[in-house]
Amino acid sequence: MDKVLESAGMKKSFGRSLLYTLPMFLITFMFMTGGKPNFSDPASALAMMTAFLLVNVLYFFMHYTGKTDRYRAVLFIIFALSLSYTLIHNMLEVRKSMSFSQADILECKIPFCHLVIPMMILPAAFTKSIIFPGSIIGGFANISSMVLLWLVATVVLGRGFCSWGCFYGGWDDGFSRIRKKPVIKKISELWRWMPFAVLIMVALTSALALMPTYCSWICPFKAVTEFEQVTSVESATKAGIFLSLFGGLVIALPVMTRKRTQCSFLCPMGAVNTLSNKITPFTLKIDKQACTECLKCVEVCPLYALTPEDVKAGKVSLFCSRCGKCVDACSKRAIHYGIRGIPAGTMKNFSRNLFLFVSFLFMAIFSAGSIISTFQGLFKFIF
Ligand code: SF4
Ligand code: SF4
Ligand code: SF4
Repeated sequence: MDKVLESAGMKKSFGRSLLYTLPMFLITFMFMTGGKPNFSDPASALAMMTAFLLVNVLYFFMHYTGKTDRYRAVLFIIFALSLSYTLIHNMLEVRKSMSFSQADILECKIPFCHLVIPMMILPAAFTKSIIFPGSIIGGFANISSMVLLWLVATVVLGRGFCSWGCFYGGWDDGFSRIRKKPVIKKISELWRWMPFAVLIMVALTSALALMPTYCSWICPFKAVTEFEQVTSVESATKAGIFLSLFGGLVIALPVMTRKRTQCSFLCPMGAVNTLSNKITPFTLKIDKQACTECLKCVEVCPLYALTPEDVKAGKVSLFCSRCGKCVDACSKRAIHYGIRGIPAGTMKNFSRNLFLFVSFLFMAIFSAGSIISTFQGLFKFIF
């Protein structure tokens, strides 16, 4: 396999890998330090340097080993954990609790996340008002910056956002890696259409009820972020739903199937991101000349984005999140990162390098704040 990677130009020498890492090194340094590292607070300086080194070491190894997914996943999972830690930490500081009251909603004290976007559109169009007030809590994004960030990311990365940008995806990605072999081997690919049904349902119900119904009733990530105070049968039912969905779709099923079941079967934003794959310049391509139809790529794909029929037809479906797991698994280098308009089997190395630079830079910059503040908390606790 190493020889295949070397001949394809994906596995590079130590020196060349360093050279490829240099632009990432400089940009992330400028971004994380603002050009002026501040060493007056040792814990903050150490946290910043650790995050900076982590990001660049992972990127270096992507080039040095020619593998993508395992290094991407490390940062993606750390991002998800650190976001939850930072969010909970900030909420405990601001309101001394992970739960919020109706007054907190009215005072716009609820952090806004990208999963709300599909529920805002219809109410915003009809009522000219935003149904989910967001605010900056300890540096969390407000509505306009979050929408803008998500728009840019999805236009450039398409559903790549679901493996390189989303601060929730690391949860089921992480749990899907716990077992070496799946206990449940087959779930019908038809379930991957479920997020579209959820999307239609929450967009319509949010417009009718003028409230974000997904956040209020279904979002599994309430279990690791913030939730409504349990003061009635209704709020207790909601808490039960959040915990059950988190336990079932984010923990149990990913462990048993080795697939990202929350992202594959529930998230309405995943459906929106799937559609955005139609416009992104980056794709995955299958070189039919090189493919032996061994179907290893189908087996490893965590998002049910590949079927045997797709492989036979030499195309990757719109559900692909560009995680790179199939690329790493293919011993023939037949499935590879590509650019729209460039034929399969050509410019594999250039396409991979360009995609990795753009997507990894996005993830590094987007995750830096929460990772640094998590390390800061950790170092303050230790020292
Ligand atoms: S499917 Fe939803 S939760 Fe999963 S990574 Fe995509 S946007 Fe995030
Ligand atoms: S793993 Fe590679 S060779 Fe096997 S089916 Fe997939 S693309 Fe073809
Ligand atoms: S097709 Fe490949 S890159 Fe796309 S989601 Fe599946 S494993 Fe990841």
